Amino acid sequence: MRYISTRGTAPVLNFEEAMLTGLARDGGLYVPETIPQMSATEIAALEGLSYEATAYRVMRPFVGDVFTDDEFEDIIGRAYAGFGHAARAPLKQLDQGHFLLELFHGPTLAFKDFAMQLIGQMFQTALGRKGERVTIVGATSGDTGSAAIEAFRGLDNVDVFIMYPHGRISEVQRRQMTTPQESNVHALAMDGDFDACQARLKDMFNDFEFRDGVRLAGVNSINWGRVLAQVVYYFSSAVALGAPHRPISFTVPTGNFGDIFAGYIAKQMGLPIGRLVVATNQNDILHRCLSGHGYHKGETVPSISPSMDIQVSSNFERALFDAYDREAAAVVQLMNELKEGGFDVSQGAMQVLQSHYSSGRVSEAETSATITSELKASGELLCPHSAVGVRVAQAQRETGTPMITLATAHPAKFPDAVEQASGIRPPLPPRMADLYERSERVSRVPDDLEALKGFIRENISA
Ligand SMILES: *Cc1c(COP(=O)(O)O)cnc(C)c1O
Repeated sequence: MRYISTRGTAPVLNFEEAMLTGLARDGGLYVPETIPQMSATEIAALEGLSYEATAYRVMRPFVGDVFTDDEFEDIIGRAYAGFGHAARAPLKQLDQGHFLLELFHGPTLAFKDFAMQLIGQMFQTALGRKGERVTIVGATSGDTGSAAIEAFRGLDNVDVFIMYPHGRISEVQRRQMTTPQESNVHALAMDGDFDACQARLKDMFNDFEFRDGVRLAGVNSINWGRVLAQVVYYFSSAVALGAPHRPISFTVPTGNFGDIFAGYIAKQMGLPIGRLVVATNQNDILHRCLSGHGYHKGETVPSISPSMDIQVSSNFERALFDAYDREAAAVVQLMNELKEGGFDVSQGAMQVLQSHYSSGRVSEAETSATITSELKASGELLCPHSAVGVRVAQAQRETGTPMITLATAHPAKFPDAVEQASGIRPPLPPRMADLYERSERVSRVPDDLEALKGFIRENISA
């Protein structure tokens, strides 16, 4: 299995190289050269399998000969062993034909654990046998960083630096990043918003001297390994509701377009998916774009669903690459226009996008109202991100096709917003109940590339 860049001029890589690299050297994102297919018979055979066994069958063809069968099975087993639910990704019914896929039973209570725990184990196996080490730098709107620190803390072959926007993430998110005491993990509070963190991260990857000097590796949502891990639960949940014998639709609370793009990959592999519905908060660049108004940056406005407070949605480049018939030159042109503020999508590409994706936008008041109304209707206490999804799903459901809304975080990760809407302060699960008492370790850093590079150089262990 070979991986190519959306911008056409970076080297073609195998799975291990694409995973360890993250961002391609031409600024693009890696995608598989061809998408492996699963027949209806193979999909039907997933019924009744454990999450781990499903994960193995869905992901195996993408990995190629990078891991042996046994290695890959072990990696998957270790990745999900620490989850707090036997089903890993359990489905709950909210209403007739509407289901909630709970993706928050991992160690940091958000869906990002599904990908990050797997990546951690894959890095460990790949680097350990080569005796190499890497420096992982990430930018986070809250949940990626905590999931990364949790997945890599104490591992021998990596140093981890996570930049987050100072003052713009929840206390639980912050504490999950600042309380691990292992010396190979560093939480950096940056003076700026998430887009600034993401921009400095891109700058570091485009600085080849620095990139090669510290052996930079990326685990942000653009990392192909992360997208791949997320493909699995589209299969496990759809099969539980009757796929491949009937189509299933999904609504996904969306920020960087990584989670929903995994759904698109599942569909390309052969899973019968009806609609893939993008749900955004007031930071709605994707909804505006999918509604035909072009992709134009606005100001990021802080919301009660902070993990979706994004104006530039990095994985959307992968969707554009396919919508433009995999023409890298067209993607390069669009990304150059984006630097100046935005671009319009061609009519042909728009038709392709709209054939797969629908979208909806939810205001702050509607998000809170949905937390309140869903508690009353089904007894489910939703986190604000999941509430954005449920609200959009209610508006976009079609009779005859079951709708699965992805619940991307546990309500206890965002207790203030949930309490304000519902009057209930959701408690942390017992295994992390002392989070508020643990001591914190964090470095305040400016939104300045040279200063950040200096900090990282000084703090790597080897
Ligand atoms: C990261 C995140 C999202 C957005 O996911 P993308 O893959 O970036 O679209 C939504 N909800 C929560 C809780 C998250 O942590």
